[in-house]
Amino acid sequence: MRADRDESRLRTPARSSSALDRVEDTPWRRSPIPGVQVRPWAHVSRVPARHSLSVDVEDWPQSVLDGRLPVSDRFIAQTLRLAELIELRGARATFFMLGNITRKAPELARRLTQSGHEIQTHGYDHRRVDRMTPAEFRADLLRSQAVIEDVIGRKVSGYRAPRFSIHAGNPWALDVLAECGFRYDSSIFPMRLRGYGVAGWPQRAHQVRTSDGAELIEIPVACGRMLSAPMPLGGGGYLRVLPVFIVRRHLAVQEALGCPELVYCHPYETDAYGVSRAGRRVPWLTRVHQGAGRAGFLNKLDELLTRFRFAPIREVFGINES
Ligand SMILES: [Zn+2]
Repeated sequence: MRADRDESRLRTPARSSSALDRVEDTPWRRSPIPGVQVRPWAHVSRVPARHSLSVDVEDWPQSVLDGRLPVSDRFIAQTLRLAELIELRGARATFFMLGNITRKAPELARRLTQSGHEIQTHGYDHRRVDRMTPAEFRADLLRSQAVIEDVIGRKVSGYRAPRFSIHAGNPWALDVLAECGFRYDSSIFPMRLRGYGVAGWPQRAHQVRTSDGAELIEIPVACGRMLSAPMPLGGGGYLRVLPVFIVRRHLAVQEALGCPELVYCHPYETDAYGVSRAGRRVPWLTRVHQGAGRAGFLNKLDELLTRFRFAPIREVFGINES
């Protein structure tokens, strides 16, 4: 039924090598982050999938409510439920796992790897990058990388910062990522919102080069536009609350332009009762903000998984492992 919607008539234009050459010849230009230059990331997807889905795997009370809380085991069932839906629709995803989560449930990380999903890191215990020194960030990054690589037996070279906490205030984080052997980052939210994001940041995949000469590929999460202003729609509360046709239309238009998008979510968003079972009092505003849209979220995600083809970031965006 969904296949006969209007946007299904849109077709992705074949990408000529000359168009790709033009992208590769594009000079570096200044970005809204001082000292950081950008240019479009030229790639040719080798998979039929058109978009990527990423999942930040964490335990909601520990990662959102209070970082001092012990990690519960609720995330295991939530993640499995999400993975099963993704696999049922013939898709695979990128799972950004915390180090503490991987330590608690190594069999979960192995099960995801064996099912063809990509595993990368979300840091060790969900501390914001902008509240760490460069040395602390390096230690957090290497600690999570070591734990995950040890469990899954594969290289970890992609990163998503907790709460998108890489921005104009801490461009040194990009240098640290490159020093630690990371190939790509997905931490810069391409518009300014309260506490995160960069106004005017490119909405599509870009190469970034820091003032120290470090280079990375930056894959922002999907953002649309409304009345010429950027509009978040690719994940979090926005994806849960917005009518699904808005997200569907954005993905279809980008697909027709040959531009892959990156959608993101968390396993806890599939748990409609997770906020009330947090085990401690949750402030009213947090309850509304974190709980809104959870009840219908799996259905919404299922609609997107049915309508579009999703694959892991490295495959869709053509990024080598090392
Ligand atoms: Zn997170």
